[in-house]
Amino acid sequence: MTQRDEIAKLRQQLLIQSKAATDNEKIFLRLLEREILLLKARTLKDLLDRITVGLANSYGLNEVTLLLWDPEHEIRHLLASEMGEEPAIPGIRFVDSMNVVPAQVQRMRSVWLGPFIGGDHDLLFQQKDQLKSVALIPLVREENLVGCLNFASVDDRRFTRHHATSFLSHLGNVASFAVENAVNRSRLLRSGFTDVLTGMHNRRYLESRLGEEIAVAKRQQAPLTCLMLDVDHFKQVNDIHGHQAGDRVLREIVKRVAGQIRTSDVAARYGGEEFAVLMPATRAVDAKKLAERIRKAVSATPMEVSSDQALTVTVSIGIAEIVPPRSAADHTALGEGLLSAADVALYQAKADGRDRVKISD
Ligand code: GH3
Ligand code: MG
Ligand code: MG
Repeated sequence: MTQRDEIAKLRQQLLIQSKAATDNEKIFLRLLEREILLLKARTLKDLLDRITVGLANSYGLNEVTLLLWDPEHEIRHLLASEMGEEPAIPGIRFVDSMNVVPAQVQRMRSVWLGPFIGGDHDLLFQQKDQLKSVALIPLVREENLVGCLNFASVDDRRFTRHHATSFLSHLGNVASFAVENAVNRSRLLRSGFTDVLTGMHNRRYLESRLGEEIAVAKRQQAPLTCLMLDVDHFKQVNDIHGHQAGDRVLREIVKRVAGQIRTSDVAARYGGEEFAVLMPATRAVDAKKLAERIRKAVSATPMEVSSDQALTVTVSIGIAEIVPPRSAADHTALGEGLLSAADVALYQAKADGRDRVKISD
């Protein structure tokens, strides 16, 4: 080999190595980016979406699924209360016991790479017929297997036992930490989202849901309507009958409101004797019918405030509607605008004589 050939060969090797180094750095940076996205997820639902859809997109995978051990259905309940519906998220599967998962997964304590095996892996993926290779990443907390993060590709060379697993096992650690973190936060938020007197959601809950509902309304280009309700002359109830009578009236109002609204509506005690209801996919004219039903349900029958006394109570209701423009970026400002428009309408209902419903002009 001439000296020139040798130099050319060395140069070639150097190029290959530096490309490998750049590739590794790229992989590393992508991993870091994914990690940060997982850790920044705001809600459980958001996190689960980021794990399934997010990881599939960023790694160019055909399917990403997550199996989670949820013995007391707590994660499912937390998700349901976040989403306001039964939590069915594509790619997420909850199991009551890890005994139902494939034996291979049950025993797994480190990442497994290899071919897609029908029978063993059918339970973990949807696109059974197309998948050729898989990576199964165990999620372990305090030495217990709490789930499994599963990657699959139609490329049979994507995951083979010759590939390194350190990146994936690190990603598994981050994912299980992020899930635990999101569960804890969701648990905490739920306990801080309830009004103690009435058991109804509180203002913080309403405000947190408001942003989500605005986002949904924007995506679907559907109206979101807000109803703001305030008890008429409530101060007099307290002044004449006492604070406890006032409390009983508030609890009774919550019952009567709850009896009228739909499960998709978000009702909250907004302040002292003021309540708000968010109604997704509802126009103000239709909300007005519901508001009238609430108004009548409150005033129709007197409320018992003590063993020998019942009071007739009335409420005033303001309504405002929004269809968030597709270009809207500031969801918080839109939400605040909606609440304050409903509040203005409520003020008009009061000014017009109370015990009435008014739609914002
Ligand atoms: P308006 O028809 O204009 O709404 O008159 P109002 O008397 O209802 O309005 P105001 O805002 O003056 O009074 C509200 C009262 O509600 C004052 C406050 O002490 C009372 N309140 C707020 N929270 C509670 C509570 O949890 N329990 C009781 N009993 N009273 C409360
Ligand atoms: Mg009042
Ligand atoms: Mg008030």
